[in-house]
Amino acid sequence: MPKTKNKKYYLKTFGCQSNMADSDRIRWIAESCGYASTPKENVADLIIYNTCSVRQSAEDRIFGRNKIIKQLKTKNSKLKIILTGCMMHYGEKTLKKRMPLVDFFLPIRELQKLPKLMGKKAVVNPEEYLSIPPKHEFPFRAWVPISYGCNNFCTFCIVPFARGREYSRPKNEIIREVKDAIRTSHKEIWLLGQNVNSYGITEKTAWEGKTRKNALPVIQKGRVTFAELMREINAIPGKFWIRFTSAHPKDFSDDLISAMATCEKFPKYINLPVQSGDNDVLTRMNRNYTREDFIKLIKKIRAAIPDIAISTDTIVGFPGETKKAFMNTAKLYREIGFDMAFIAEYSMRSGTAASITFADNVPHAEKERRRKYLNEILKKSALEKSRPLLRQTMELLVDEYKNGRFFGKSPQNKNVEIKGADSNQKINIGDFVKVEITDVTAWKWEGQLV
Ligand code: SF4
Repeated sequence: MPKTKNKKYYLKTFGCQSNMADSDRIRWIAESCGYASTPKENVADLIIYNTCSVRQSAEDRIFGRNKIIKQLKTKNSKLKIILTGCMMHYGEKTLKKRMPLVDFFLPIRELQKLPKLMGKKAVVNPEEYLSIPPKHEFPFRAWVPISYGCNNFCTFCIVPFARGREYSRPKNEIIREVKDAIRTSHKEIWLLGQNVNSYGITEKTAWEGKTRKNALPVIQKGRVTFAELMREINAIPGKFWIRFTSAHPKDFSDDLISAMATCEKFPKYINLPVQSGDNDVLTRMNRNYTREDFIKLIKKIRAAIPDIAISTDTIVGFPGETKKAFMNTAKLYREIGFDMAFIAEYSMRSGTAASITFADNVPHAEKERRRKYLNEILKKSALEKSRPLLRQTMELLVDEYKNGRFFGKSPQNKNVEIKGADSNQKINIGDFVKVEITDVTAWKWEGQLV
């Protein structure tokens, strides 16, 4: 591998797990080019921002870097800055106007060009950037993309524009990446996609003879579904957990529920975004299910897997969301009783159908009030779901050591502070350990090592 003595790169990832998975590939290329990672921006020779466009606040944080970039470049005139990720949907010309000191703008799908920007010859030249091997950020957690892009065009969402049409990675490539992760002691395998449960609709062969931009999704004969993929991964020998995100309610098949119920490596936690509990809002969001469909699906999942933990994503203050419509979401929250939720105030994204069609007419203060209102309902249900687990013994994956204390993730994906992990009972990050749950709040638990 080429060596670049003493050169350092600083990589900052904004946004979701898919961006983190992309950063794993950036990391592999940078280190294959001889650069060493640094956590300090001010000693780096190369800074890479992997950006997010999902909310205005995420973009503002990137544009807010201009001042620091100027200071860093004044100190080090040879410093190079690369911007990649979802904000590239704006195009280089627009971004250059907002961030004139950035040297290169690189669409994530053209990551193969990164060595050239770093002054190196190609260290890897796969046809598809996801074939670049990952250098995982965590020694115990691996993000494994199974598909890329999205065809759903929810009216609030920028992802189909930022990441393009959906395609599924070849199954063998995914299995190889999962096996590599397990071989290198990764214990939590996250299968990622904007819509994981539509996996298989666009097998790689569907694109033959076409550019990805022009090709339409093709349902392949004898395709492997997400449920089948999950079963194959579950059959790989070793001790590990299989998690996935994001799932779309409209594509949640009975076969997937059956796979979740029978795969012993699936730790019985899902995130299922509802976005709204009001049918009119759901229609205007283009979600393609009703609140009744969603409730029915949750009942079906709970009937098959009674102890499953369910989280959701919700947007409050979507254009035209009346107080009555919002109360339908509040009612759905009470009816379902989520274990966790990620509640966001609507943020208009320019270029989306919602931004063109609807006025952003719910005042900011009202959005905030609705978010807090839902959060109170969630706090109650999360605590109610947690209480029965008190005094239960369960396995945790140790994933953090901070201020002299160990923390782990429960199968339900809750943060648990681990008590009793003193010098007599040595534990390490990445270990599976058994604890008895000794205290629960809505947001985090405590457990004593047993
Ligand atoms: S399913 Fe909807 S919210 Fe999710 S990435 Fe696709 S368009 Fe966005």
